[in-house]
Amino acid sequence: HLFDLVRAHLPADPGGRTVIESVPDGRHHSYADLLARSAAYADALTRLGVKTGDRVAVQVEKSAEVIFLYLGAVRAGAVFLPLNTAYTGAEIAYFLGDAEPALFVCDPARESDFLGVAREAGVTQVRTLGGDGRGSMAEAADSAATDFTDVARGPDDLAAILYTSGTTGRSKGAMLSHDNLVSNALTLAGYWHFTARDVLIHALPVFHTHGLFVATNIVLATGGTMLFLPRLDAKKILELLPRATAMMGVPTFYTRLLKEPGLTREATAHIRLFVSGSAPLLAETHREWSERTGHAILERYGMTETNMNTSNPYEGARRAGTVGFPLPGVTLRVVEPETGAPLGAEEVGMIEVKGPNVFQGYWRMPEKTAAEFKPDGFFVTGDLGKVDRDGYVHIVGRGKDLIITGGYNVYPKEIETEIDALPGVVESAVIGLAHPDFGEGVTAVVVAGEGAPDEAGILAALEGRLAKYKCPKRVLFAEDLPRNAMGKVQKNVLRETHAGLYA
Ligand code: ATP
Ligand code: MG
Repeated sequence: HLFDLVRAHLPADPGGRTVIESVPDGRHHSYADLLARSAAYADALTRLGVKTGDRVAVQVEKSAEVIFLYLGAVRAGAVFLPLNTAYTGAEIAYFLGDAEPALFVCDPARESDFLGVAREAGVTQVRTLGGDGRGSMAEAADSAATDFTDVARGPDDLAAILYTSGTTGRSKGAMLSHDNLVSNALTLAGYWHFTARDVLIHALPVFHTHGLFVATNIVLATGGTMLFLPRLDAKKILELLPRATAMMGVPTFYTRLLKEPGLTREATAHIRLFVSGSAPLLAETHREWSERTGHAILERYGMTETNMNTSNPYEGARRAGTVGFPLPGVTLRVVEPETGAPLGAEEVGMIEVKGPNVFQGYWRMPEKTAAEFKPDGFFVTGDLGKVDRDGYVHIVGRGKDLIITGGYNVYPKEIETEIDALPGVVESAVIGLAHPDFGEGVTAVVVAGEGAPDEAGILAALEGRLAKYKCPKRVLFAEDLPRNAMGKVQKNVLRETHAGLYA
C-alpha cells in the first residue's frame, strides 16, 4: 500500500517535523498534520460515496492540501487522477468523460463553469479546493474523522491514473499501481541518497509524474521536508537555496536560474543534489551550471507510463547529454524499430524497458496497450536512443520526431546539437516537413541571440560538419520555441505552423 511508504518513515515525533512548508504564506504542515488530514480526506471521500477503485479527478492549484487529498484518496482505496491546471472546459469534458470519476474536485473560481461540464460527463459530485487550501472539499474534510483505517490494496491495484503530457498527440491515461509507485520511490530515494534531513525545493506542478511522484513520493518515503512554491520563480528559489539540500526541476529551471547573477558557488553551497528531467537538458546548460556553481546536474529519464527508468550516478561521472544508467530493477534495451532485433552499443534504435516501475496499461485503450507491450513484457517507450560503450543511455529524440528524408533516417538531436554549438544560438528544434522531392525536408527552427549567424551562415557552418542529407533545407527563426507546462518543446505545433513550407 502506497500509504505504508509514509508510515514506514514517520518521524518519532510527527508533530515536530515539517513535511511541507508552503512558501507563499509561510505555513508549516507537520507529519502529524499529514496523517490527520489525509485521514480526514479519506473519510470525507468515503462519505461522499467514493468506493474502492473509483477515480477521484482533481484539477486544482498546487497546495499542501492537494497532497493530503492525494494521500486521502489512496487511503480510501480510490484512484487519484490529477489533471493539468491549464486544461480548458472542453478538455476537462473529455477527461471526465474518459475517466468517469465518482467525484471531481476543481478550483472554486471555475466551479460554475464546470458544473454543467461535469453533469454532461455523468459526474454527479463536484467539490472545490483553492490554491489557498480552502473550498467545499476542504470543508468536508474539516468535519471528518482524523483517523482512518486504510482500505487494503494489493501491489497491482491502481493508486493513480496520470494522463501523459500530450506532447505527441492526445493525452493517454496511464494506470499506475501501488507497487509501480512504491518501488520507484524507494529505488530513487536510495539511488539519490535521500534521508529525513533533506529539504527539497519543490516548484514543479503536482499534476505530473515529476512533481507528484518523483519529488513528493521520495520525500514522503524518507521523512524529509518540501518547500512548496506554486510555480517556477527563479528569484524565490535563489532565496531558498541556503535552506535547502536538493532541488528537482525541468531544464527551464536551470536556464532561468543561470540568468540570475546571484547564482554562484556560495549561493548553492548548501545544496547536495540538483536533478533535471522531463525534457532534454542541453549539454551546454550542464556545463554552464558546473562552471557557475561547481555542481554537476544529475539528469534522469522517465515517463508517465514508467516512472523513472534511468539516472546518472550519484557518485561517479554525471555526463552531460546522457540520462545515465538503468535504475536498479529496470531492464533497458535498444532494438531495431521494425524488426525488434536487439542492437549493440552505440547503435541508435527504439528504447524498451521492463521492471516494477512499468505501468498497468492505458486506461480504456486495450489496443493501444497491447500495441506498446512486447510479448516478453517490455514496454515500447517511443523514444529513440542508444547505450554508449560505457553503458550511459542517450536519448536522441522521439520516434515520432524521426525525420525520413530521401529514404535516410535523420535524428533531430544530432543536428540540434551542431546548431546549438554555433555562436549566439540560444536553442533550436529540428523537424521534418512534407517535401515534394524528399518525402520530408529537414527544417531547423532557431532561437537566435546576439551575434548568431543568419540562415546562410548557419547552413554554411553545418556543411562541412554534417552529411549533406542531414543538413536543413531551410532555417527559420523564432523568438521562442513553443513549450508545454513541463517545458517540453512541442514539435507538433512547429510542424503544423510550418506545414506548407515546401508545398
Ligand atoms: P505524450 O506521451 O502524451 O505525447 P509526453 O511523452 O511528453 O506526452 P510525459 O510522460 O510527461 O509525456 O513525458 C515522457 C517523455 O519525456 C519521455 O518519453 C521522453 O521523450 C521525455 N523525457 C523525459 N525525461 C527526459 C530526458 N531526461 N531527456 C530527454 N527526454 C526526456
Ligand atoms: Mg509519451
